Amino acid sequence: MTIVTDLEKLRVPCIEADERINVEATAAALLYDMKKYGGCGLAANQVGFKHRVCVIAVGDMTPIVLVNPLIIKEKKPRRVREGCLSLPGLEVEIERPMYVKVKAMDEHWNTRKYTFTGTQAQVARHEIDHLNGILMIDYLEASDREVKERLLKSEVYKIHPLLEKFVS
Ligand SMILES: [Zn+2]
Repeated sequence: MTIVTDLEKLRVPCIEADERINVEATAAALLYDMKKYGGCGLAANQVGFKHRVCVIAVGDMTPIVLVNPLIIKEKKPRRVREGCLSLPGLEVEIERPMYVKVKAMDEHWNTRKYTFTGTQAQVARHEIDHLNGILMIDYLEASDREVKERLLKSEVYKIHPLLEKFVS
């Protein structure tokens, strides 16, 4: 599948997954695309699915599938640099928690709890934000955000990769 880069589409929150959808197939497709595009996480709405499913695989960790994830606790915000497959060429510095505790189901509908730390916590927050229609640029100051959104929409940005440097 191709990665969705349309900001309006990305801002539509995903809907709760239920047992009518083949969550195993959705997860397999997400894991496939995450590897294909070299990401460390991917959310359903980034490849056009509409249910709350995302995957995370930071470094050499075993990939984790999160179905209907909920953040139940987070702490220790810190400044980190972050990118997103849906916002190619953009790197922003924002606050993300050092610890994130998540309750979710896996691809076999077993309820699980995870405590993520460091980069895993950052990625978990990033992907769960996607499911809620929230993008990393939404944490920027409003003035920065406007400029970056305008650039992302412009044809100039699309045809001149060198401009990526300007929006990084
Ligand atoms: Zn992203």
